[in-house]
Amino acid sequence: MKKEWVRSTARGMTTYYSPKVEGKLRMDTSTNPLGCNPAACKAVKECADMELDQYPSTYSDGLRNELAKIYGLTRDNFIVGNGSDEMLDILFKTFMEPGETVITAYPAYSLHGFFVRINGGKVTQIDLDDDYQLNVEGINSTKGKMVIVCTPNNPTSNLLRREDVKAIVEGCDRPVVVDEAYGEFAGESFMPLVDKYENLIVTRTFSKAYGLAGMRIGYMASNLEMANVMQTVKIPYSLNRVSEHVAIAALKDQRYVKESVATVNRERKHLEDGLIRLGFHVFPSEANFILFRSPRDSAQLVSRLAEKNVLIRDFGKLRRLENCVRTTIGTREMNDELLAKLEEVVREW
Ligand SMILES: *Cc1c(COP(=O)(O)O)cnc(C)c1O
Repeated sequence: MKKEWVRSTARGMTTYYSPKVEGKLRMDTSTNPLGCNPAACKAVKECADMELDQYPSTYSDGLRNELAKIYGLTRDNFIVGNGSDEMLDILFKTFMEPGETVITAYPAYSLHGFFVRINGGKVTQIDLDDDYQLNVEGINSTKGKMVIVCTPNNPTSNLLRREDVKAIVEGCDRPVVVDEAYGEFAGESFMPLVDKYENLIVTRTFSKAYGLAGMRIGYMASNLEMANVMQTVKIPYSLNRVSEHVAIAALKDQRYVKESVATVNRERKHLEDGLIRLGFHVFPSEANFILFRSPRDSAQLVSRLAEKNVLIRDFGKLRRLENCVRTTIGTREMNDELLAKLEEVVREW
């Protein structure tokens, strides 16, 4: 292959996080520790009788109707598709010209920058402050076609101040995206405000609180004008029939989501206390994961834990996250297993 064959936007990219997972306790991807959503598991079984020879609903009308009921919006406020990652891709394809700049916070979700670059855009990162809160002035005074922020923020785990996010939406004349992948855990949302603003888009997912990461279902909402344009950009049929059916079942039965949020809220303190006891610095969390700093090399910590069959995620090579790692908040059993293995590593040090 000649180097020039590769489109300039695709050069120098690296593949995404993909660890060896066989037999490991996974606390590295902030998924739901309660296992598959029971309503969804039941719905999957029904899918054997579906007409899988036929295409799904082009724009997943059934799921959008259900989302409209839950959020008190209309079906056409919503776009749904193959994970909220597809939503991010649609956003930049719709609003960002190749060569234009998108403003992200830093540190934040690495795939935000990925989707900007792969769509030919540039990223300007505006650092969060020492408490990992937004630099509102900095963002509003920076040139760029769009802004994207994440609350609760990944990987820092804190909720952004609501008035700061509002000040960004109100303070500039450009689309502002609020990624709420962990919104259920924080119990607040910008979703109800999408009709009020000309420029607000909110993304959410079934991968975290709904326990359905394996099904790849995500959605976003905005006012009707923006949503209508984004719908024309989306890949038709990108949400398959099985995923749509399962998502509807999961939305109609909110018990699992409530239980998941309650479990996380109950377990957070226990895990935090255990980590502090082992000598780690713990950052405040309002999500289903915790960011903490290791007194020694975090890469070594993560690889030693992996040898003991527990996976957590290393962020320690990144600026401002030196020696920081992220763990999912699991069930009591999972958390105690993690703490026990961490204790072994600390002793070996
Ligand atoms: C997990 C995550 C997503 C991706 O969700 P999918 O719906 O699985 O694509 C998006 N944004 C953030 C911040 C996440 O942590």
